[in-house]
Amino acid sequence: MPTTTPALSVSAAGERFAPINLERRDLRDNDIRIDIQWAGICHSDIHTIREEWGTANFPLVTGHEIAGVVSEVGSGVTRHKVGDRVGVGCLVDSCGECEQCKNGFEQFCERGSVGTYNSKGYDGEITQGGYAQQVVVSERFVVSIPEGIDLDVAAPLLCAGITTYSPLKRWGARPGASVAVVGMGGLGHLGVKIAAALGADVTVLSRTTAKSADAKEFGAVEHLATSDPQVFKDNAGRFDLILNTVSADLPMEDYVRLLKPNGALVSVGLPNEPYVIAPGKLIGGNKVVAGSMIGGIPETQEMLDFCAEHGIGATVERIDASQVDDAYDKVVAGDVRYRYVIDTSTIKP
Ligand code: NAP
Ligand code: ZN
Repeated sequence: MPTTTPALSVSAAGERFAPINLERRDLRDNDIRIDIQWAGICHSDIHTIREEWGTANFPLVTGHEIAGVVSEVGSGVTRHKVGDRVGVGCLVDSCGECEQCKNGFEQFCERGSVGTYNSKGYDGEITQGGYAQQVVVSERFVVSIPEGIDLDVAAPLLCAGITTYSPLKRWGARPGASVAVVGMGGLGHLGVKIAAALGADVTVLSRTTAKSADAKEFGAVEHLATSDPQVFKDNAGRFDLILNTVSADLPMEDYVRLLKPNGALVSVGLPNEPYVIAPGKLIGGNKVVAGSMIGGIPETQEMLDFCAEHGIGATVERIDASQVDDAYDKVVAGDVRYRYVIDTSTIKP
């Protein structure tokens, strides 16, 4: 018989979160049941529930930054045991056999990867996410949270951490590299910490200077306000790599201009409008404009180990279940320092 677990659900677009008893499937041989302690609020949760990315499957429980402890394992589970500290990010299934899965890029599975919520699983059921006290997930998608990172500050690493770590590594954030992080929210603040730990010289490009002191504390050498047009003139040709984490549309050509020749502007922020960039702005300087989507499971584990080694966790504001709607509005208003994490023990149907 499937078990139920307290969860926060939205019944239709525009409605508020309400506590419900959510059904989780019976454990399959390779499944793990996790007692969730903390769930981060990612801007993607907000884009989804507000249908900014298209129609969502309601009723829906969001949340793909999940940290907790293993409470039960299926008969065939080998990777984790009861009591282990674990995390689940944006993915809960993939075929496991295609070229992409075999190479550790489960997010690009040729059969189609299954997202942690709002996604149709291979069993035909719509997945329900981590704003809940329990989740049942195939062991392949459960990563270990190293001792030394508390679960509340670990939760945001499962999406915001890997989404910034992966492109920073791929596109050369290293000693001697000049890296700009655009937007210092949930993703951006972890991007700053990780890029600094990788040895790069990090500059933050924010709308205002309000977060300057925090940027320096996170490891940035400089914090610039993009509201000042002079910034784009003074810093033209300065950066090897620009990581764009902004959730809204940006005048991309202005940022391309900040790249050195052979530099790359990599976007992880996901607004809806197309980029407008004249080809000549790229050709003059061999510039690259790229995207990056979360990261596969092996790299997610690598990121967690890296963060533990460098003492990196998210900077969080802890909230209880009744504060989630308000927290969504605050994230959209840029009023979060720097990730809300939900104490799931406060969800009471
Ligand atoms: P967030 O916490 O809201 O941070 C976004 C930041 O962007 C804000 O803190 C703000 O930084 C800046 N910003 C917001 N509105 C802006 C505007 N109108 N103009 C200029 N800057 C603005 O969001 P998040 O959770 O970090 O997510 C960021 C984006 O990444 C979202 O679109 C999300 O869906 C996407 N995402 C993508 C992936 C992926 O795999 N590619 C994974 C997770 C999330 P300042 O205050 O410093 O200016
Ligand atoms: Zn996310």
